[in-house]
Amino acid sequence: MQHAHSARWIDETSRGSDTICVVLPLDGMCYTRIGQTSGMTAPRKSDGPRGIAMAAAIAPSVRVDAGAAKAEATSAILVVDDVVKRFDTPEGFLTALDHVSLSVAPGEFVGVIGPSGCGKSTLFNVIGGLLDGYEGTVQVAGERMRGPHAAIGMIFQEESTFPWRTVVDNVAFPLEIAGLPKRERYERAQHFVRLVGLDGFERRYPAELSGGMRQRVSMARTLAAQPKILLMDEPFAALDEQTRLLLGDKVLQIQQQLKQTTLLITHNITEAVQLSDRILVMTYRPGRVKRIVDIKLPRPRSSEIVSSEAFGRYVAQIWSDLREEASRGLTDEEARTLREGEDR
Ligand code: ADP
Ligand code: MG
Repeated sequence: MQHAHSARWIDETSRGSDTICVVLPLDGMCYTRIGQTSGMTAPRKSDGPRGIAMAAAIAPSVRVDAGAAKAEATSAILVVDDVVKRFDTPEGFLTALDHVSLSVAPGEFVGVIGPSGCGKSTLFNVIGGLLDGYEGTVQVAGERMRGPHAAIGMIFQEESTFPWRTVVDNVAFPLEIAGLPKRERYERAQHFVRLVGLDGFERRYPAELSGGMRQRVSMARTLAAQPKILLMDEPFAALDEQTRLLLGDKVLQIQQQLKQTTLLITHNITEAVQLSDRILVMTYRPGRVKRIVDIKLPRPRSSEIVSSEAFGRYVAQIWSDLREEASRGLTDEEARTLREGEDR
């Protein structure tokens, strides 16, 4: 796994005979790895830093790019070209991504939708450099991506705040790693804390916050590193509906302010239509691009737009695509359950 050779351990801890490390490429994600450094198991997305005190390993390429998305105004900032990713499973090779291509313009917001297991997270992990061994290429601002890179910020559904750091210290973390002087990193951290609406909570610890607020801390921390591209993998899925709506509004506001190039995986069609410039609908296994839908609704998009006729048409179109794929997924599951039943 690329982390093993592109990372330097800053810290690690032991549990029994195992060494446990948290790999934290720049932002919100928190990967744990258990085993000896030489023979680590593949990193698993952790359920947050819960219980494991420890450390981050950062790829040497880490840098904070203040100019983020200002260049390349016309050309694509992200080009995914003909990516095929197969997993070797006990049942044989599984094609998770089958010739997936996608081009994203600077400042664009792309929603990614598809049935469970269709390869959405795999696509993000390929873009974010967390998976290797795939065919095709990923380029960010014309540069071929290999391994975790500071140009890409990721936010996951799982919590990834550090319980031992205050809100502002969480947000300042990637800037600290990037070697920004203390004053500058706190000013910048403070700015992003405010942006996600957490002013007044700077000195609080994650345990004192609600789930939605903690997710906003992760968002601020990832944004503070000023990634060229932000990847959000179902960041709101674990939250209740109300918090989810509020966070969706927050993302809209932030999007308007920062013009941050963003890809968002969500199961929620309304959320996708409200936030996106384009929506990528994926097929169920093997994951292919089924359709890319241009959402030509005016911005800013208030909550009222959700009840408009045009909005409803987009939702219906995407739902019909998705239903087709989801039912293929169900049939697959049913067939397998039946087969397993017969084997018994
Ligand atoms: P999604 O995010 O759309 O739900 P994933 O990208 O997580 O789907 O997974 C796509 C397919 O690849 C699934 O069938 C999943 O079981 C399989 N898969 C994902 N990661 C691995 C892995 N590390 N090893 C084997 N199979 C995997
Ligand atoms: Mg997923």
